[in-house]
Amino acid sequence: MDLLNTLVDKGLRRETPTREEALAVLATSDDDLLDVVTAAAKVRRHWFGRRVKLNYLVNLKSGLCPEDCSYCSQRLGSTAGILKYTWLKPDQASEAAAAGLAGGAKRVCLVASGRGPTDRDVDRVSDTIKAIKERHEDVEVCACLGLLSDGQAERLRAAGADAYNHNLNTSEATYGDITSTHTYADRVDTVHKAHAAGLSACSGLIAGMGERDEDLVDVVFALRELDPDSVPVNFLIPFEGTPLAKEWNLTPQRCLRILAMVRFVCPDVEVRIAGGREVHLRSLQPLALHLANSIFLGDYLTSEGQAGKADLEMIADAGFEVEGADEVTLPAHRAAAAGGGCGPGAEQAGCGSHAGGGVCGTAPVAADAPASAGPRTDLVAVRRRGAGTDLAPNA
Ligand code: SF4
Repeated sequence: MDLLNTLVDKGLRRETPTREEALAVLATSDDDLLDVVTAAAKVRRHWFGRRVKLNYLVNLKSGLCPEDCSYCSQRLGSTAGILKYTWLKPDQASEAAAAGLAGGAKRVCLVASGRGPTDRDVDRVSDTIKAIKERHEDVEVCACLGLLSDGQAERLRAAGADAYNHNLNTSEATYGDITSTHTYADRVDTVHKAHAAGLSACSGLIAGMGERDEDLVDVVFALRELDPDSVPVNFLIPFEGTPLAKEWNLTPQRCLRILAMVRFVCPDVEVRIAGGREVHLRSLQPLALHLANSIFLGDYLTSEGQAGKADLEMIADAGFEVEGADEVTLPAHRAAAAGGGCGPGAEQAGCGSHAGGGVCGTAPVAADAPASAGPRTDLVAVRRRGAGTDLAPNA
């Protein structure tokens, strides 16, 4: 297909596709799906080889959010039966992080619900970062605390944070449809603040909220413009008790097309499959590794993922390798520009986190689950283990 040859050539040259080309990827038929995956896989392999970077989420503060992001199980008015707790102490967070690192993760993503941190919250998170880095010198730490005020990104950087996540989530045109308590411009501003402070920027999207193809392309092009080092792609988990509970409109094939489009538009960027991986890709998860070079290990913020052991087996079975702490994630030109933040031993979650915020989640696949598309509430399990509980984490 001429389209795919063109996109591979552009991807290898880091050249931006046209909007029409990106839209055409989303419009491909199931007959062409493997060709699309093969083409985007060439671009992925060129920049990232067969390495899969593992990230591990630690939900520092769960639920109780005053914002109204309609996709989020932690939102104001959510009746989803998620865990609700206030700030973990640094030693508790460090303990949770250690489990993920022992499981093979190289980045820990520290996420807290809320509009944004107070200066006291930044102190808490700074203490947590220090506690984690005392035990694990080489770990990359990404903070995801919502909208940042002036000076907060610099303070997090000084405390040892390597990266900051704040997702755009959807197109500027549709942003007001999913949230009324802050704006798209607020989100862009926080990504700029993270960049300006020398933090590696992580910013991504949520697919499956009823958006048009044009909106998906808009947000991915906007992300390319912002130039984050990593782009988490969340697939909406329609939590019961949230306004988007009925938005079951993704198929595994659609998810692969979206990931391929993101790879073509952001060829040399860490593309991470975030929340919704197990729920929406299901048995096609291994194919998605040919498109994304990063996933979350184990559980999500408010929902459970497949067992960490199953993540590792899937990576090995599909012929990929877990990226080591001593390997550089990003291509040399990008790692140098990131000032080491994403370099060796050093980089982003899924919840991209605030974006996928509470949404990110998934569950073990039930053996008797139906194979067809449509609502798969059977695959959504609220997280009941790990951070904020007495039970061992999944890592
Ligand atoms: S995404 Fe973040 S800001 Fe929005 S409701 Fe969820 S926790 Fe609050």
